[in-house]
Amino acid sequence: MIRLKNIQKRFGDLDVIKGIDLDINNGEVISIIGPSGTGKSTLLRCMNCLEIADQGEIQIEDYSVNISKITNKDKQWIRRNTAMVFQGFNLFNNKTVLQNITEGLIVVKKMKKSEAEDRALKILKDVDILEKKDNYPSSLSGGQQQRVAIGRALALEPKILLFDEPTSALDPELVSEVLVLMKALAKEKRTMLIVTHEINFARNVSDRVCFMDQGIILEEGAAKEIIDNPKNERTKQFLNAIR
Ligand code: ADP
Ligand code: MG
Repeated sequence: MIRLKNIQKRFGDLDVIKGIDLDINNGEVISIIGPSGTGKSTLLRCMNCLEIADQGEIQIEDYSVNISKITNKDKQWIRRNTAMVFQGFNLFNNKTVLQNITEGLIVVKKMKKSEAEDRALKILKDVDILEKKDNYPSSLSGGQQQRVAIGRALALEPKILLFDEPTSALDPELVSEVLVLMKALAKEKRTMLIVTHEINFARNVSDRVCFMDQGIILEEGAAKEIIDNPKNERTKQFLNAIR
């Protein structure tokens, strides 16, 4: 299980994350929805130690870190056990699709090249893009690039997959291939935390939905309950505005 306790983060005078608690069970899929500028990306970045929160606790299975005492070893452990999928794919553009997957396995997981390639080929088959293994990202569609990025995250065998608006940069006709893949991962009982504006996807694929506003989780509960029958006025307003 993964637990966030009282996570707080400011940028100068700007109080962005104001004390977030969240428990994520193994195999659970949680979607975070909410207006832009609310701290959703910052929360994911703090979970992945791309940003270091100011306070709070991150617990991943038996590994618990008090942020005020975080060490470099803790940061490395957290980065190695969480994997992020970004809105803008963030692939290495000077590496082939295959090399995009093997790079982390060789550098982070210290795998031998041949072993890394074996795993990468299997993953590329799983995300259905094996035929592009020798292509460079620029020759792929956005949907294909995002599937490679998801493959790269999967290859690291993280304890949780973090998705930050994975379909927001895609042309409308390319959104569904990425959502279909994410739905398949959810079915395999991968632990996933997804920031998304795809409300139907959040409703149908997640176990729970959190509505985040101005740095706090204002409402959370079963996905269908929150989306079909929100209690909080701000949640209602937000859902009405985007539907
Ligand atoms: P969301 O993902 O919900 O749109 P973000 O987490 O990206 O929100 O941003 C929340 C707030 O924090 C915004 O006001 C944003 O400008 C600010 N912010 C995010 N990252 C930084 C940073 N590195 N330095 C300063 N301000 C930041
Ligand atoms: Mg964001």
